[in-house]
Amino acid sequence: MEITVEITASLIDQVFTAQKKQSLIMRQSTANQRIALLNKLMNWIKSNMEDINRAIHADFKKPYPEISITEIYPVTSEIKHAIKHLDAWMRPKKVHTPITMLGSESYIHYEPKGTCLIIAPWNYPFGLALGPLVSALAAGCTAIIKPSEMTPHTSALVRRLVEETFDRSQVAVFEGDVDVAQKLLAKPFDHIFFTGSPSVGKIIMKAAAEHLSSVTLELGGKSPVIIDSKTDIKDAAEKIIATKLLNCGQTCVAPDYILVHAAVKEALLHELKENIQKMYDPKNKGVEKSKDYTRIVNGKHLKRIKHLLSDAEMKGAQIYWGGYVNEEDNFFEPTILSGLSEEMDIMHEEIFGPVLPVITYADLEEAINYINLKPKPLALYVFSKDNEMIKRVIRETTSGATVANDCALHFLQNELPFGGVNNSGVGKAHGHFGFLAFSNEKAVMKQRIGLTAVKPIYPPYGIKSKKI
Ligand code: NAD
Repeated sequence: MEITVEITASLIDQVFTAQKKQSLIMRQSTANQRIALLNKLMNWIKSNMEDINRAIHADFKKPYPEISITEIYPVTSEIKHAIKHLDAWMRPKKVHTPITMLGSESYIHYEPKGTCLIIAPWNYPFGLALGPLVSALAAGCTAIIKPSEMTPHTSALVRRLVEETFDRSQVAVFEGDVDVAQKLLAKPFDHIFFTGSPSVGKIIMKAAAEHLSSVTLELGGKSPVIIDSKTDIKDAAEKIIATKLLNCGQTCVAPDYILVHAAVKEALLHELKENIQKMYDPKNKGVEKSKDYTRIVNGKHLKRIKHLLSDAEMKGAQIYWGGYVNEEDNFFEPTILSGLSEEMDIMHEEIFGPVLPVITYADLEEAINYINLKPKPLALYVFSKDNEMIKRVIRETTSGATVANDCALHFLQNELPFGGVNNSGVGKAHGHFGFLAFSNEKAVMKQRIGLTAVKPIYPPYGIKSKKI
């Protein structure tokens, strides 16, 4: 799809200046005024469901039910949650006054950070552009969105949504690639909310450093799954396959690889295969025929995953199931791998596709050490009937989130902070945490006239210090 308007630095400058001015008005906005903006967003979504489905499907054949659950629902539920709680979130929060400060009062005033930039990835091109916008509007900020160039139909739809719903001094969209992103990053935004890869995250953080803009970086990485010998293998395999193959593995919180206790490895491999067939090939006609299976976003990413697979095979990995690729349609069959080793690229790079390496461990310490030697993951999943084992994994590893006996479900739990740690992200999103990401927690202290706790230590110090 062609982008008709040339995005020049001067066009960006015009919109940025208008948003800066508007942000001073938004700073004084009430909860009801912000809720009105959120309702406008909700109404557009509700009235344009078919267009949303069509755009996302056109980009990479994402099935409609998956679009509803993973793209539209997270945004509408984020809007509903913000509307319900906004009044409480905005209320100043009183803090305790210690005896040394007697007479004064102190509270936290939540003020909007101001003019913000949202840079979105392609894998959930609707939800990950608009989810952060909900938090920005709830916090009272203006925002410029830069959707991903890899999903042009959805990018154009997001622009249409914004242009039909908001004045560009409140919210604007600039479509385009790295060049547009770089032009935007040259402006002194008050906050930058970036979702994408760790490597680009570093570029964003460097650009933000120029202006000391604050950042939220929602990044990726390799999210492991630990499978204990004491667990329900059928339940674990079903949940792993459902989340791994959602969006064809192109999900930031998808299980990247499995560490399974050696005693249950064969049972797990069998159940993983059974579940692929049950979910995507019940009539034994091949997964390629399934309307429920998304495609890889483009040829470049297909080749990247193919390389990971052939590199692993060349270095001794065995394909337990799958491996077929149709380049003409960007189809990549679900693929389960065993016989892995650390020389393989697939054990270091985020896979972001439907290939699932399965590694065995003999005791839990080995699995924990393996994870701790790698960059900190966005999510860690653990399947076990043993609560002590789960507690030990939580205590002895670090990750943006740990989910026991399920995968990826925490993304839909608005009461939890969502985000990574170091390599997998900086800062948190969703619900109240999203509101806080776009807010400055301003410290306010009110003293009584004529009174101050520190008067006894005013200069001249000489005479007083003798008394102390
Ligand atoms: P990406 O980092 O390649 O691109 C993300 C955005 O950054 C796009 O809009 C792109 O145009 C822009 N961009 C790319 N290069 C840039 C540069 N040099 N300067 C400025 N902007 C640039 O990521 P992607 O391929 O779109 O998405 C996949 C990655 O995103 C994976 O690593 C995945 O795990 C991660 N992700 C994380 C989350 C999360 O919530 N933590 C969600 C989805 C995806």
